[in-house]
Amino acid sequence: MEFVFAPAPAVAVPIAESADTASARERFPVRRVYCVGRNYAAHAREMGHDPDREPPFFFSKPADAVLYVAPGTTGEFPYPSRTNDVHHEMELVAAIGRAGRDIAVEHALEHVYGYALGLDMTRRDLQAEAKKMGRPWDVAKGFDHSAPLGPIHPVSRVGHIERGAIWLEVNGAERQRSDVSQLIWSTAETIAYLSTLFTLEPGDLVFTGTPEGVGAVARGELMTGGVDGLGELSVRVI
Ligand code: MN
Repeated sequence: MEFVFAPAPAVAVPIAESADTASARERFPVRRVYCVGRNYAAHAREMGHDPDREPPFFFSKPADAVLYVAPGTTGEFPYPSRTNDVHHEMELVAAIGRAGRDIAVEHALEHVYGYALGLDMTRRDLQAEAKKMGRPWDVAKGFDHSAPLGPIHPVSRVGHIERGAIWLEVNGAERQRSDVSQLIWSTAETIAYLSTLFTLEPGDLVFTGTPEGVGAVARGELMTGGVDGLGELSVRVI
């Protein structure tokens, strides 16, 4: 078989290094990027919604929106076009390692290969317009480089991340701080629900939602965020 042009390279995120350096060469090939909306009560409120436990809702980003940032380095996020209000959303990301559909909540975490730090960068002005017009969110959420991401930490090394601080600073000033235990829909519940809508496959990433404190960033500003157990993610807006 011949392609009419060279296929795009696979999007592949490094596995976090450990003392066992052999794993440093391993990569997690990304298939799809799913994101959960409004999954921390205080964030739902700040976006003008009732945080009552409605069913989770989802949107997605293209796999090649992933902007990998190696630990100990500062990634560069190009300020996107056609917006004057790009927001940070710090999130815990679950990386799926085993296929499944209609997964039971009590078995959902068995499908998780590992966890990563991610930023769901958002053109908030275009999202507000889409909401008002009843239009899709793609241009607000799925633009180029809209998913800065750290390495994948295998469950075999870090366990399941069900609690612990999630936070983000901009130029050293705290913007977001909560705890993963404050998720409205836990990672297991999110995966179970998502698997009733799509067959999950190895390589899928699930952004589990952002806590309160989202806000705008400007060119030159430095975003640093983390989740307990997963290190830090540093990204400069350029
Ligand atoms: Mn988000």
